[in-house]
Amino acid sequence: MTFKFLFTKKQDLPVKVAFLDRDGVINIDHGYVNNKQHFTFVEGALEGMKLLSEKGYSLVLITNQSGIGRGKYTIFDFAKLTFWLEGLLFKNGSPFSAVYFCPHHPQKAFAPFLQECDCRKPQPGMILSAIKDLNIDIENSLFIGDKESDMRAALGAGIPTRILVKSDGTAPFDAQISCTRTANTLLEAAKTI
Ligand SMILES: [Mg+2]
Ligand SMILES: [Zn+2]
Repeated sequence: MTFKFLFTKKQDLPVKVAFLDRDGVINIDHGYVNNKQHFTFVEGALEGMKLLSEKGYSLVLITNQSGIGRGKYTIFDFAKLTFWLEGLLFKNGSPFSAVYFCPHHPQKAFAPFLQECDCRKPQPGMILSAIKDLNIDIENSLFIGDKESDMRAALGAGIPTRILVKSDGTAPFDAQISCTRTANTLLEAAKTI
């Protein structure tokens, strides 16, 4: 089962999508960020998302949220944060078209979230669901993430451009294998595509 918030209808014409990871790309990854008080934007992230929108990309968030399954916060907490963020992004001219999240974990979660799902990155399930839900021009779409699991999920879903953001200043070697380029930040990535 895929968990999602769809903020748009399926378009008649294919849209190119910038799939975005959240923690470490849009906001600083403090670990299990689950309210707006702890949500700190990475410098330039809002500008970068606006630039992606101006360049014609629909923005789709693809995020692992095992904190839900682990009982650290609830789906309602995640929804509140996501809807707050969506309002802010709307004002910024760069709303998400959809948000996909995985609440599961294969070992460290409570029922019903304790499972080997097909949505938790590095599985491509969330991206594949987006491809079913939205009319996506896959060949011109891209993924921006900061972990190997992001790059592997994007590769598995057939996303041709996979940009690894060096959220802690370095690019992990394993992730470099499955990415197609690196960037220091989301903003830098947005400027170079
Ligand atoms: Mg991340
Ligand atoms: Zn899952």
